[in-house]
Amino acid sequence: MKRRSFLLAGAALGAAPLLRAAPPRRVVIVGGGWGGLGAARHLRALAPELDVVLIERGARFRSLPLSNKWLVGQADALTRDYRSAARAWGYRYVQAEASAIDRDRHRVHTSAGDFDYDWLVLALGIREDYAAWFGDDRETADFARSRYPSAYGAADALDALRDKLAGLKGGTLLMTLPPLPYRCPPAPYERAALIAGWLDARRIPAKILVLDPNTPPHGFQQIFDEHHGDRIDYRSQTRIAAIDPRRRTVRTEFDDFSFDDAILMPPQQAGDLAWQAGLVGRDAHGRPSGWAAADPLSYQSRADERIFLVGDMLDRVSPLFGHYPKSGQTASRQGRIVARRIAALARGETPPRELPDSVCHIATRFDPPEALRIESSFRLRGDGELTQQSRTTRDAQPRGEDLAWAEGMLGELFAPPP
Ligand SMILES: Cc1cc2nc3c(=O)[nH]c(=O)nc-3n(C[C@H](O)[C@H](O)[C@H](O)COP(=O)(O)OP(=O)(O)OC[C@H]3O[C@@H](n4cnc5c(N)ncnc54)[C@H](O)[C@@H]3O)c2cc1C
Repeated sequence: MKRRSFLLAGAALGAAPLLRAAPPRRVVIVGGGWGGLGAARHLRALAPELDVVLIERGARFRSLPLSNKWLVGQADALTRDYRSAARAWGYRYVQAEASAIDRDRHRVHTSAGDFDYDWLVLALGIREDYAAWFGDDRETADFARSRYPSAYGAADALDALRDKLAGLKGGTLLMTLPPLPYRCPPAPYERAALIAGWLDARRIPAKILVLDPNTPPHGFQQIFDEHHGDRIDYRSQTRIAAIDPRRRTVRTEFDDFSFDDAILMPPQQAGDLAWQAGLVGRDAHGRPSGWAAADPLSYQSRADERIFLVGDMLDRVSPLFGHYPKSGQTASRQGRIVARRIAALARGETPPRELPDSVCHIATRFDPPEALRIESSFRLRGDGELTQQSRTTRDAQPRGEDLAWAEGMLGELFAPPP
């Protein structure tokens, strides 16, 4: 795995290592989500001379987009096979946990051995900051995570949430939302709306209590009032002061509540490895921002130019709008941009400048169906600042656009080359 040992072995055997062809330069990608897969697939197409290794802990890809519809039986689970994608595009997929990055040695330590890199792409996604609620009480954090999963990342948590819904007989289902920024901001509102419709259809006498530290985006207050007023008790700008998952009580600045079951979403941050590798940015007060800091156009880490960062893990990129949308489409586009940049760097060329885009399809009701489409694009202003243009369209007659979008995106990441 270490290319230097290949040359040294040659020297030890008395061979002439300089006569041997140099091993290909290597790009290691950690994270096989939307961002990492975009980088892997495009790197192989753009720079076949590079050795591309994708390190991902999971055995199979499972899409979070459309997972809310899957939870309430309105869509199939969108899963894909890493091995066949790697075979089709010609990169190496290693199922392993990356445990540390040695930036001085340009090496990633994983449960399947060490991998040296010439360039490293990190697309780690998010981690959930239970310490914000429970401090260093790991036992309570683990209890909350396993009993009341957010189902906002790991596939097995999605299964657990679906089982939970199937067993729901009534009472109060608490949903806490994380403070912004977090992954796919409209998705928790979609989830509340779809669960409300699902409870209606089954006449289950349960209420959904939504505690949201933010103000509702995209007209969701109106959508809840119009369609789900009897089911959803929605409280905006309501921060959690304390939560006791064993007693099933929650305290906010204004009220105390008890609950029967819950979907608990703590604050989110960049994935663990970004912290270990010292890639997390600082806020205006010099405290860790929680997210991995990169140049907004080159995606090179502010701390290490050999490391490219893509997807939900990224820190704010603009004083005008803050973070890039934490969406699958944005992550995948960023993976492609980074692939083009690395391919150009490998050839000694000037990398092209490109900006990502984002589309989110959000179901607000399934009977009769209704949806939102949220589109964002970006522009670089003359003064060097990025601006964002966003448009939200309410669609009273969706005709499967969400599935068509997801199949198209996943087709790009997983389909064999033509
Ligand atoms: C309910 C829901 C609905 C959504 N709907 C939409 C939508 O309609 N449209 C849209 O564009 N986006 C949507 N999103 C958002 C989208 O899922 C995320 O923005 C996207 O997954 C981000 O991609 P990523 O590559 O940054 O992270 P991820 O997709 O989370 O990928 C990170 C990967 O890294 C792996 N990993 C992390 N650390 C390690 C390690 N140390 N070792 C090995 N592997 C590691 C993880 O296993 C994971 O596979 C939705 C999200 C949710 C939760």
